[in-house]
Amino acid sequence: MSETPLVRVARFLERTTAEGPGERSAIWVQGCSIRCAGCFNPHLFGTRGGTPTTPESLVDRVVAAGTSGVTLLGGEPFEQAAGLAAVAAGVRRAGLTVMTFTGYEYAYLRTSADEHVAALLSATDLLVAGPFRQDLIDHERPWVGSTNQEFLHLTDRLADVTGPDRVEVTVSATGDIAVNGWADSDTLDALLAGLPAGRARPSAH
Ligand code: SF4
Repeated sequence: MSETPLVRVARFLERTTAEGPGERSAIWVQGCSIRCAGCFNPHLFGTRGGTPTTPESLVDRVVAAGTSGVTLLGGEPFEQAAGLAAVAAGVRRAGLTVMTFTGYEYAYLRTSADEHVAALLSATDLLVAGPFRQDLIDHERPWVGSTNQEFLHLTDRLADVTGPDRVEVTVSATGDIAVNGWADSDTLDALLAGLPAGRARPSAH
C-alpha cells in the first residue's frame, strides 16, 4: 500500500477571518505551475521549499485550533492533491468545513482522471476556481481576486459567501511580519508602505 505523500506547507495560520467564511485555519502550500501574471504569491511558485508535513499532523493542528474548518490555498492545492485530499477528508471527519482555492478551472478538475484530484474535490465544501486575472480585479465578492474566479458549492455547507474583504497583519514573537487576505494593489501598497521592507508578504490567492 502506498503512503500518502507529505504536503509541502509554505505557511500554516491557526486562525484567520480573512480567508473564507467565519474563523478558519489556513494552509498555504508551496508550488504552483500556473503562474498567473500579477500573482501576489510568486514566492510560492517553486516546488522547492516549504516544510514537508504529514496530512495527519495538519488535521491535528486544524482540530486543535478550534476553528470552524480549514482553507487550502497556495501555491496550487491541486498540484498536491493526494496529501491535501487526506487533510480535507480528515478535517471533514472531525465535523469541520473545507474551502479550497485553485487556479484551475472547475471544468478541467472535474474531468480529471487523477483519483487524488477527485478525492480533493469530494472532500471540499466550497471551491474557488480559476486563475487570477489582473485585468479583471473583483471589487465586489470577498476573498477572490478577479471576476472570472468561480464559487462552486460542492456541498450545502459554507453556503454564505457574503462578507467583507479583509487584510490581516500578523507579527510573530521574533518581529517578523506577514500579511494575508485580499485587497487591491493600491490598498496593499498603502498598508505595506508603513512596514519594514522585505518583512511583509501578502499571501492572498
Ligand atoms: S494566483 Fe494562484 S493559481 Fe495563479 S499563480 Fe498565483 S498561486 Fe498560482
